[in-house]
Amino acid sequence: MAVKGFICRHASTGSTSIPSLSSDAVRPISRVLSGSWLRRDRMLARVRTGILGGTFDPIHIAHLHAGETALHAARLDRVLFMPAGDPWQKTHDRQITPASARVEMTRLAIAATPGFEIDLREVEREGPTYTLDTLLSFPRDEELYLILGSDAAARLPTWHLWEEVVKRAVILVVPRPGHDFSLVTNVLPRAVLLDMAAMDISSTAIRQMAAAGRPFRYLVSPEVYRYVVDEGIYTQSRSGDMVMSAQDQEEGQ
Ligand code: ATP
Ligand code: MG
Repeated sequence: MAVKGFICRHASTGSTSIPSLSSDAVRPISRVLSGSWLRRDRMLARVRTGILGGTFDPIHIAHLHAGETALHAARLDRVLFMPAGDPWQKTHDRQITPASARVEMTRLAIAATPGFEIDLREVEREGPTYTLDTLLSFPRDEELYLILGSDAAARLPTWHLWEEVVKRAVILVVPRPGHDFSLVTNVLPRAVLLDMAAMDISSTAIRQMAAAGRPFRYLVSPEVYRYVVDEGIYTQSRSGDMVMSAQDQEEGQ
């Protein structure tokens, strides 16, 4: 399948191997991949871990589909869903739901999927969280794959010590409507682009729908929907909660 000039490799050809930090992580091309990489050096047997971080306020089906797409396409052993911690600084922008509820929603959303795990290291860390610190907290022999939407990936070069980030982890990018892959390849020519149907869903839109009493049931897992409705997460006033803008949170990356 040809996708806008990117090289697309099918599992059926068997001609492509997943980039790994131990072998061909630094191929100077970007790729759109569908299916799964077949060649995998089992002799090395290094754990291959995908990391999908986010505010998850709430976690929605595009997060879950991105995680499963990466799990399959890159032959990962697991995908860690890593909720961001509570804001450590107050600012004037929107309220972020407390981590306890965002963690609970994440747990509920991933529980039924083999290979999905929750990782609380960013929730438990005090102060600003840098993605590089998170990556460096894993054992050195673990292969890390950072899963990002194309919006987040295009901004990666603004992150703290981002060159070190891309040395420690292979960047896997899933499409997000309005954020073309070309924006990513301009700044991250070695990123690996995953073939996934773009889904025009955001937590922001879901919060707004819930607050306005509009339907959002099928944009989140059934368990998350029930939790949001039962707890009134986006319908109660939460004045006095921690306040932090998405922009502020991203500056911490
Ligand atoms: P918000 O609207 O609150 O910013 P969000 O939907 O963007 O929420 P985040 O928790 O900010 O979700 O995103 C976590 C990660 O998931 C980021 O890498 C982001 O690019 C990715 N992501 C979120 N929604 C989508 C989507 N619809 N398609 C692809 N990637 C997505
Ligand atoms: Mg976002």
